[in-house]
Amino acid sequence: MRGGRKRVLVTGGAGFIGSHLCEQLLARKCEVLCVDNMYTGNRDNLRDIANHPYFSFIRHDVTFPLFVEVDEIFNLAAPASPIHYQFDPVQTTKTSVIGSINMLGLAKRTKSKILQTSTSEVYGDPQIHPQTEEYWGNVNCIGPRSCYDEGKRCAETLFFDYRRQYNMPIKVVRIFNTYGPRMHPNDGRVVSNFIMQALRGEPITVFGEGQQTRSFCYVDDLVDALQRMMDTEHDVTGPINVGNPGEFTIKQLAELVIEMVGSKSKIEYRPLPQDDPKQRKPDISKAKQFLDWQPKTQLREGLVKTIDYFRNL
Ligand code: NAD
Ligand code: UDP
Repeated sequence: MRGGRKRVLVTGGAGFIGSHLCEQLLARKCEVLCVDNMYTGNRDNLRDIANHPYFSFIRHDVTFPLFVEVDEIFNLAAPASPIHYQFDPVQTTKTSVIGSINMLGLAKRTKSKILQTSTSEVYGDPQIHPQTEEYWGNVNCIGPRSCYDEGKRCAETLFFDYRRQYNMPIKVVRIFNTYGPRMHPNDGRVVSNFIMQALRGEPITVFGEGQQTRSFCYVDDLVDALQRMMDTEHDVTGPINVGNPGEFTIKQLAELVIEMVGSKSKIEYRPLPQDDPKQRKPDISKAKQFLDWQPKTQLREGLVKTIDYFRNL
C-alpha cells in the first residue's frame, strides 16, 4: 500500500472489459498498473484515464515474466472473440497458460490476491442447462475453439494447484457473454457485429438458424462483480459464474438490434461455425450468495448505451 492506495495490476487492461475495470479501480482510489501487449487492446479505451496521476501503462506480453510490486492482480489478458483467438491459436493457449503461470508467480512473490477471468467456454457445448459451477463441461479438445477453451481450463487448473500447493488467495470468475461500449467493432462478436451491420444498413449475419441461445451481461454489472469477488475473504475461491441469466436466441437478438437501431437491414443466414455452443445461460446462485451480486441492467437498457457508443465511433 502506498499512501493508503492499493496497487492493482490489470493485465489486458487496454481491452474492452479491462479498460472499464481500470476506470472503476481508479474511482475506488486504487493505484492502477495496466499491462497489455495491445493484441486486441486499444489506446483509445484508456483515453479518459491515461493522464490520471495514479494510472500507469506498460506494453508487455504476459507470456514473458513481469517484475513489478503490486497488492492485487486481475488477470484479463487473453483475446476473447473467436476471430481473434483463432487467428493465432498457439499464442492464445500460451497467453492463458504461460501468462497464468507468470502472473501466479508474480502473485506468489508479492503475496498478492489474484483473480482469473475464466469463461463460460469452459462448459463447451453444455449438456446441462443452465450451467452450474459443478458442471465439468463438454469441450472438444482438438477443435478450432479449443485453444481458448482448453487454455482457460488449464489456467483454472493452475490457479487451483497454486492454491493447493501454496495456499494462495486465488479467485476464479467464469464470465458469460458480456457487451457494452468499447467492444472492438470488428471482432466478430455477436452484439458488436449486429449493431455495426444494422448501423451500416448491411445484412445481419445470423449463423445457423439463429436458435442457439446466449445470455448477455452489461459490462458495468460485470466489472462490479469482479471487484466484489476480489474483495471476498480467503476461503472464497470460486469458480463463480458471472453473467446475466436472461436468455435470448441469436435471432431474437438480431430482431431487437434491428428495431432499436431503426435499421432497414435484413437477416441473412450463414453456416453455423464448428463447435458453436447451442445454449448458454448461467446459474448465478453462487454469485448471489457469495458476492451479494446480480445484474441490474436489462438487455434493452444496455443496448441503448452500446448502440450509442458505436454510432459515435
Ligand atoms: P479484449 O480482447 O477486449 O481484451 C483482452 C486484452 O488482453 C486486450 O487488450 C489484449 O491486447 C490483451 N492481451 C491479449 N493477449 C495478451 C498477452 N499475451 N499479453 C498481454 N496482453 C494481452 O477482450 P475482453 O472481452 O475485454 O476480455 C477480457 C477477459 O475476459 C479475457 O480474459 C476473456 O477471456 C474474458 N472473458 C470475456 C468475455 C466477454 O464476453 N467479453 C466472456 C468470457 C471471458
Ligand atoms: N453469431 C451470429 N452472427 C454473427 C456473430 C455471431 O449468429 O455475426 C452467433 C455465433 O454463432 C454464436 C453467438 O452468435 O452462436 C455468439 O457468438 P459470439 O462470437 O459473440 O460469442 P460466443 O460464441 O463465444 O458465445
